[in-house]
Amino acid sequence: TDPIVRVDDLHVDFDVRSVNGRRLGTVKAVDGVSLEVRPGEILGLVGESGCGKSTLGRAMVELNTPSAGTISVTSARTGDELSPGSRARRRAVQIIFQDPYSALNPKRRIGAILNETRVIQGFRNRGENHDHIAQLMADMGFGPEALQRYPHQFSGGQLQRIGIARAIMNDPELVICDEPVSALDVSIQSQILNLLADLQRDRGYAYLFITHDLSVVRYIADRVIVMYLGEIVEELGPDHLISDPLHPYTQMLSSAIPGRQDRERIAIRGEIPSPLAIPAGCRFHSRCPFAMPVCSAQAPPMIRRDDGRAVRCHLYAGPAAQRPGPEEHPS
Ligand code: SF4
Ligand code: MG
Repeated sequence: TDPIVRVDDLHVDFDVRSVNGRRLGTVKAVDGVSLEVRPGEILGLVGESGCGKSTLGRAMVELNTPSAGTISVTSARTGDELSPGSRARRRAVQIIFQDPYSALNPKRRIGAILNETRVIQGFRNRGENHDHIAQLMADMGFGPEALQRYPHQFSGGQLQRIGIARAIMNDPELVICDEPVSALDVSIQSQILNLLADLQRDRGYAYLFITHDLSVVRYIADRVIVMYLGEIVEELGPDHLISDPLHPYTQMLSSAIPGRQDRERIAIRGEIPSPLAIPAGCRFHSRCPFAMPVCSAQAPPMIRRDDGRAVRCHLYAGPAAQRPGPEEHPS
């Protein structure tokens, strides 16, 4: 099947200015990313904060504008390509934000907020909108009185359920989930994750699931993409996050998953460099325990392997490619 979204060599740049307006430089928040999201899949997107994953997600819902490259959206239901800026595209690709409170207008009642989204997306019949919203809120576990209340009258978990209701209101095909549980109490994170998993299973949505938390993505994703400083550095299956991460950065992230004892740990070293000063060569070389002379001189290409995995690292280039860490699993 065709992908719902095809991102091709996407670049999103931001000008950075000092408080008095002096231009400090350009941040290449997303720097040449290509990926596809297929109908009904959960694609995990991981990396430390500042790696560009939210910027990429926001570009996919047209909340920021690419500097170069394309994002094409094709409905799996109709086969039509949905043009940029169109209502059909806005309906098809929706987003759930990390902070559910700041995503909702604090001065308006929930019923009015949800109705507004209905209207923006082209549904103007008041009675039908009311019934639709009441049913959707009931599906999310709310009684009709919730529509009369204001955002501050709900807990964080309840607000995120309302954020989810708003995102799925008009039956999207892809939902960008941008750290949807990381602002919530640990005790309710699994409720929200289970709700998202149930919705995906029952309604067939695809998710781009953005998180810095590998234990979450390992639980929920069908496929995983790892980003570092604006680039994709690895594509792998969720099981390989633990058993066989290839890129040293993925190995480092994976080592930090709590409760792991099964392989040698690679300590988290240093911090992600400023995106205004991206290291030459491999962007990870300043933190990589396996860095070789070539790594600071040449940017490694994305190496696509026969098993469908991909890794951007000199260790895997050439016929004598070696690998760090434990021996390859027999497969
Ligand atoms: Fe480390 Fe070199 Fe691979 Fe970069 S290319 S991750 S520095 S081994
Ligand atoms: Mg973010």
